[in-house]
Amino acid sequence: MEVAGCGVCHTDVGFAYDGVPTRAPFPLTLGHEISGRVTAAGAGAGQWEGCNVIVPAVIPCGECSPCRAGQPTICRKQFMPGNDGDGGFATHVRVPARGLCPVPEKLPPGISLDLLSVVADAVTTPFEAIRRSGLGSDDVAVFVGVGGVGGFGVQIAAALGASVIAIDVDPARLKLAAQHGASLALDASSTNEKELKSAVRSFVKQSGRTGIGLKIFETSGTPAGQIVAFGLLDYGGYLAVVGFTPKKVEVRLSNLMAFDATARGNWGCPPEQYPAALALVLEGKVVLEPFVERHSLDEAPAVLEAVARHEIKSRVILVPDHKGLAVEEIRSCTTTI
Ligand SMILES: [Zn+2]
Ligand SMILES: [Zn+2]
Repeated sequence: MEVAGCGVCHTDVGFAYDGVPTRAPFPLTLGHEISGRVTAAGAGAGQWEGCNVIVPAVIPCGECSPCRAGQPTICRKQFMPGNDGDGGFATHVRVPARGLCPVPEKLPPGISLDLLSVVADAVTTPFEAIRRSGLGSDDVAVFVGVGGVGGFGVQIAAALGASVIAIDVDPARLKLAAQHGASLALDASSTNEKELKSAVRSFVKQSGRTGIGLKIFETSGTPAGQIVAFGLLDYGGYLAVVGFTPKKVEVRLSNLMAFDATARGNWGCPPEQYPAALALVLEGKVVLEPFVERHSLDEAPAVLEAVARHEIKSRVILVPDHKGLAVEEIRSCTTTI
């Protein structure tokens, strides 16, 4: 398929710079947040030719026992582009047809196919974490880290009717979160842990939400964020670990039993949940544009380094230049959307 855009994830930075091993050996093209157009299909997948699609970041095999038991994200035969094989930091990529999420040919104003690449991980991973938490309109949701992933999580939680608190160390991110669904924005760089806790507690009281226990989403993928998130657990609380860091943290794990609380992670999102997550974007309930910035694929090495140094705060989308490449025969999409 022809890549329209591919988002840059901190997992890519981990693979490229932090010694996190990819499952397929280097040399490997990274990138697992892919949107694009199917330009050629193998046997049995012909209906996808000419279709615009989002490629799930984790594509399960569909046949093993976790897949059959409805837990496809722990499939051991899964394919993750840019980890199990070449990924989307390229003009073209070959991916399995299984699990592709169809994208309508005609998109709402302001939404383009390259922009939708971030649905593949930055939107769907918090979407799945929120779905598993059972978050509803009676709940207060807390997002620790409101960059790309957390910024989308805030909007998804708000779309479900929950009252949302955003915590970050970056004032610009907090401002954006407050404009897009967060009712309270707390700056963790100028507030100590005790003050954060009491601000959260008084907000919950004032919110009038009767849901038991906070629903906390750790979306920063930093040790400091993980400590803050764990420290917010209360009676019946729920902690979703969404962000990734290879670093360790020290927490009092027994708080889980003392508070009868739950901590849970999720490795991506099952492909069957992608259309519901995409619908939130197409309906305008989750906006992407203010949270992303586009760069040419040609700038990939410098951009990845800048992301690694935390110099770029937005979710980066690498966009390949298709000018000058052979024009593929345009076929029309026959898959029903
Ligand atoms: Zn990722
Ligand atoms: Zn499987």
